[in-house]
Amino acid sequence: MYRTHTCGELRMAQTGQQVTLAGWVQRIRKFGSITFIDLRDRYGITQLLLGEELNDLLDKQPLGREFVLQATGVVSERSNKNPNIPTGDIEIKIASFVILNKSVTPPFTIQDDTDGGDDLRMKFRYLDLRRNAVKKNLELRYAVNRAARNYLHENNFMDIETPFLIKSTPEGARDFVVPSRMNPGQFYALPQSPQTFKQLLMVSGYDRYYQVVKCFRDEDLRADRQPEFTQIDCEMAFVEQEDILNMFEGMVKHIFKAVKGLEVTEKVQRMSWEEAMWQYGNDKPDIRFGMQLLNIKSAFTKDGKLQANGELIAGADFKVFNDAETVVAIAVPGCAEYARKQTDELTEWVKRPQIGMQGLVFIKCNADGTYKSSVDKFFTEDKLKAIADAAGAKAGDLVLILAGAEERTRKAMSELRLEMGERLGLRKKDEFKLLWVLDFPLFEYAEDDNRWVARHHPFTSPKPDHIEVMIKNNPVIEKAAEYLKHPYANIKANAYDMVLNGNEIGGGSIRIFQRDLQEKMFAALGMSEEEALHKFGFLLGAFEYGAPPHGGIAFGFDRLCAILGGSESIRDFIAFPKNNSGRDVMLDAPSAIDQKQFDELQIKLNLQ
Ligand code: ASP
Repeated sequence: MYRTHTCGELRMAQTGQQVTLAGWVQRIRKFGSITFIDLRDRYGITQLLLGEELNDLLDKQPLGREFVLQATGVVSERSNKNPNIPTGDIEIKIASFVILNKSVTPPFTIQDDTDGGDDLRMKFRYLDLRRNAVKKNLELRYAVNRAARNYLHENNFMDIETPFLIKSTPEGARDFVVPSRMNPGQFYALPQSPQTFKQLLMVSGYDRYYQVVKCFRDEDLRADRQPEFTQIDCEMAFVEQEDILNMFEGMVKHIFKAVKGLEVTEKVQRMSWEEAMWQYGNDKPDIRFGMQLLNIKSAFTKDGKLQANGELIAGADFKVFNDAETVVAIAVPGCAEYARKQTDELTEWVKRPQIGMQGLVFIKCNADGTYKSSVDKFFTEDKLKAIADAAGAKAGDLVLILAGAEERTRKAMSELRLEMGERLGLRKKDEFKLLWVLDFPLFEYAEDDNRWVARHHPFTSPKPDHIEVMIKNNPVIEKAAEYLKHPYANIKANAYDMVLNGNEIGGGSIRIFQRDLQEKMFAALGMSEEEALHKFGFLLGAFEYGAPPHGGIAFGFDRLCAILGGSESIRDFIAFPKNNSGRDVMLDAPSAIDQKQFDELQIKLNLQ
């Protein structure tokens, strides 16, 4: 037997007991003739005391950091207790020890505030994983996994595995492909999600399915993306949107309770996509704080109507506003006293290429009731006050205004709002605000191809009262510039996203389950009948054998864990992640393969 106890479990109650521990040497301290060793395993750290009588042995077998040690001795009360660790009241007076394995000096220190940089830690990830901070993240991940599974199991969901070597599924990204040796010239695709399989399982009658499953998307990696990531993927039959919303808000609340001890009793707030875009300029708003957008002038239609017509700025000879498609404002609390340097810095901030605005207009709502702005030349104080009031600004607030093309300006204002929220400490890590965003547009306009693409995926159903608009109208867009006038632009989907603190943590939809509507959908996306049959004949076929109404959702498991763990980065919550260029620096993958492998696959490389 290698050990009687772990390094995290011994307490005063065990004093006098003889125990054997095994673990890694965290730290060695020599005080005269005695030596203290901190022995670490997954469960904690226990102090070992090696007395004088072991000195000879220690000289013959010197110990080093990360050596694997087995030590036997008696649990004793410590004279110098350490209140910071659970085992801090005791130590083990060691009678004998065995070095189970040696270690070379690790390239960085195995402790919370390690001296190892990102790259080094990724290269030696197996050592990084020994660090408590990383271990805590993986423990949290497992807790979220367990909580989700428990909830789903209690609710009759069945975990059913689906294959990884499949035919392309369209989730809007590029597929990773795998050549088939047995079928030369043919390729599998790795699933971007199990979407079509879970729908087929509904046809097969498994009316509640889930899977904690890897998905693969060959996307350009933005900071927080991984080419392979994990979803909690779910599907239900005989459900309407309301059933899904209730079931999965229940799941997330259950996870909050189980993992964070947080009891969320109130219903999760809901907001339509239009409202989200209107009030926050963003389809995944962070509602932990206010600063909602004042739409002074907009090309965006809310509820199919143009809602902001520019009255507030009318009459002023300010070309920037007059020429802009959109003018939006936010009231930033308590910042009226910003000095010139600070407003200049904010102006530079919005001019950065990532934000892409030409400039920033501000109105200071002074404590004495006066107004001062960067556009005093063009606006009377009354006008400034009117804008500030409409933005909800109070004395002491700073109103920030952006003007320009609709989409870019709205996006920029959303970024600026988040930035100001961050600077003012309004995005608190320990506050969790859930939100459902509903009624997404069914289609998105793809400028490059001048056609419609599915905003979610092609299996998402239109709102029932929008089906006719879809069936009756020709999807062809005659004038690219006027695509917004096409009836398809206003079709809304039975699709929903769950948002947590400004992050999309889950998304799904009620699906199309009739062959003819699905065919119509494929046609709307510019797919010919042959192409639709070639790609999705299996699904269209299945829909002819009694497909039940169904819908589902998938949660981004890695991101959910990261947010619950208070981190920005999903990588911290994945045991063996890829770096920002999609590389596994530990394995050094991707890498070249042998010529023999190419030959077997009958593939010739043609690198440009
Ligand atoms: N398969 C979808 C996705 O990965 C989720 C869903 O519609 O259930 O986004």
